[in-house]
Amino acid sequence: MDKRIKVGKGDITKMEVDAVVNAANTSLLGGGGVDGAIHRAGGPKILEECRRIVSRQGGCKVGEAVITPAGNLPAKHVIHTVGPVWNGGKNKEEQLLTNCYHNSLSLAVANNCKTVAFPNISTGIYKFPKPLAAQLSIQAMERFLASDSTIKQIIIVCFDEENFRLLTNLQTS
Ligand code: ADP
Repeated sequence: MDKRIKVGKGDITKMEVDAVVNAANTSLLGGGGVDGAIHRAGGPKILEECRRIVSRQGGCKVGEAVITPAGNLPAKHVIHTVGPVWNGGKNKEEQLLTNCYHNSLSLAVANNCKTVAFPNISTGIYKFPKPLAAQLSIQAMERFLASDSTIKQIIIVCFDEENFRLLTNLQTS
């Protein structure tokens, strides 16, 4: 695996990186899971900018990404991407999850972010099967990094033991 990809376990709101990625929803106005944690820890600045984006473009589509400042987080930016809700796999969920990783990394590069932390997008409330999500996330990152030299480090911050084990296994295989 590309040496720029690292797997860790913990809370993404603590990461001192150029950008942390948020698994948001299409409204961009906050939710549960990692989204709730990021807004709680980051304070109102993030939501303020999300509201501005909503008034400009009406939220964020599944698979796409937007960027805001990171408020009180130790990170510099938050990239909000909207993962697909798992619906059995017949609604382009795999492509849409891949798009989340690709579009988040493109936006990171466009904003000169060299270090990026990702959560395991869609594997919480959105119920994407964890083994498949793990595989797709690594695949999308490797494909992106193959033609990029801006990103120096991607850290996949796993919150639960199962994702940590899956990602660690993929990293060493
Ligand atoms: P989704 O709606 O995309 O499924 P969730 O926030 O429910 O989003 O879950 C996405 C992943 O984020 C899950 O694997 C969940 O365990 C994880 N997660 C929840 N809180 C945190 C956190 N503070 N840091 C990192 N990952 C988190």
